[in-house]
Amino acid sequence: MTGPLNGTFAPNTGRWVICAKSPYTSHWGESNCGSWFGAEVKKAGYDGIIITGASEKPVYIEINDDEIQIKSAEFLWRRGTYFTTRKLKEIFENDKAKVICIGVAGENLVKYANIISEQRAAGRIGMGAIFGSKNLKAIIAKGSDLNLDVANKEKLSIAIKKARDYVKSSLASHILGKFGTAATLDMYNVTSELPIKYHTQPKWNLATKLSGITMAETILVKQAFCHSCVIGCGRVIKINEGKYQTEEIKGPEYETICGYGSLILNDDLESITHLNMECNDYGIDTISSSGVIGSLFYHFDLGNIKAVDIDGLKPEWGQIDVVQHLLKKIVHKEGIGKILAEGSNFFAKTFKISEDEIASINNLEITYHDMRSNFGMAIAYGIGPRGPSHNACDAYYTLLGIPLDEIGIKQIDTHSDGKEMAEFCSLLMDYRALYSSMIMCSFCNPLPSQNAAILEATTGIKFGLKEIKSFGERITNIKRLFNVKMGLTPSDDYIPKLLLRPFKEGGSKGRTPDFLKLKELFYNYRNWDPVTGRPRTKLP
Ligand code: SF4
Repeated sequence: MTGPLNGTFAPNTGRWVICAKSPYTSHWGESNCGSWFGAEVKKAGYDGIIITGASEKPVYIEINDDEIQIKSAEFLWRRGTYFTTRKLKEIFENDKAKVICIGVAGENLVKYANIISEQRAAGRIGMGAIFGSKNLKAIIAKGSDLNLDVANKEKLSIAIKKARDYVKSSLASHILGKFGTAATLDMYNVTSELPIKYHTQPKWNLATKLSGITMAETILVKQAFCHSCVIGCGRVIKINEGKYQTEEIKGPEYETICGYGSLILNDDLESITHLNMECNDYGIDTISSSGVIGSLFYHFDLGNIKAVDIDGLKPEWGQIDVVQHLLKKIVHKEGIGKILAEGSNFFAKTFKISEDEIASINNLEITYHDMRSNFGMAIAYGIGPRGPSHNACDAYYTLLGIPLDEIGIKQIDTHSDGKEMAEFCSLLMDYRALYSSMIMCSFCNPLPSQNAAILEATTGIKFGLKEIKSFGERITNIKRLFNVKMGLTPSDDYIPKLLLRPFKEGGSKGRTPDFLKLKELFYNYRNWDPVTGRPRTKLP
């Protein structure tokens, strides 16, 4: 789906979203992806594409303005996403057309397979497996209508200019643009927000080798931008020589750097770049795949699994050839890969490991902002609408000083587990739910009143701060109702013990959020029923 702002050139609104019931979590599935595909679909004249049913044979969909064709994709089956993207543009004879596609992971129904769009991923909750189940390899789109139908063009262009200027001048935008999403990695090492050795170590003296600053000083060529973006957090990198030599490709983001770096004690940034490229080509989620592989390393280290259980492999922390081997096995569902392709919780159940010792909640691996360093992430991971997500409630980012006071989102102590944190997370979750709908990248933060002006001028619907809040609240509650209908209960809002054990040293020394207290406060604030988990308020 596109959102109302796609194609308007409001800042950072080129993203698109794919939604379905997640084959991984069985709950609400929503992937929000960058790139230029959303704007192209909009230019072709569509707000979205609804795909029902399945094809008997592999196909792809070609959208060329009003002409839509379903074509055979048998020649693309078993091919990676880089080849598929290149080939489809070649056949279409227009390099400006935009492609989304799956790799072999999606074809093989790996539960955390992604859809890849020009090296960006619609990830986390198995949307690639949904495409695979429909035998849908790809969609290529080209549109030519640049005249968007908006309510008030003049007002819109004034509102957009204000918002773009505001975002461009912010410190956060400058830092993200210069050093990418891993800009703050060194700081997170000091505050113990960085996940190290499968969430069991509070700091690591080699972490700086992975930071956005190190990348900028070594392999970075230039920034990459999604459509209409004024920040450019994307990285284009090149490795000139050695084992991981590559021409210019998209570099890894913070989450991937953590997952294939600090989480498994790998300090080689070039190898992470290579793994990122492999994951994108396979079309597999870097966060979940690294989380699953990290859990295997950890439990092998503890002696909970033996080499004989995992095809004779003997993983040692930081050993990249074993990681590559496992990744291949997962994608092709071979040997231990068949179990790992179902995720960390399935892996734990298979080997009778307590799920309290797995960094995964409701069948989804957590992302890489440690909640002992930022207590808001406990709510983001434990109660988020699509399971643990750093985007649906980005306390880690907003509490760096993003000014959202206009809608009551105030800067508070990151170690609060009181009422103010429950309120902060609730309001932020609603605001980001609106972001996912309009659609705007959460790194882009004009004042909420500036966003209201853009929405009103685009849609013609009255938008003030009240509507900004109530629309978001309604979206969060509808997603919650969907999850409850799919069987989610309050006991599913939980955090594994592994993630709550306080560290004995480091930036978060001795601290851990009281999750049950936060959960109760959050339910109270939102007026959710503690027995059923359902929102009790009438939808605004
Ligand atoms: S900030 Fe990054 S993710 Fe967001 S729109 Fe820009 S390039 Fe894309």
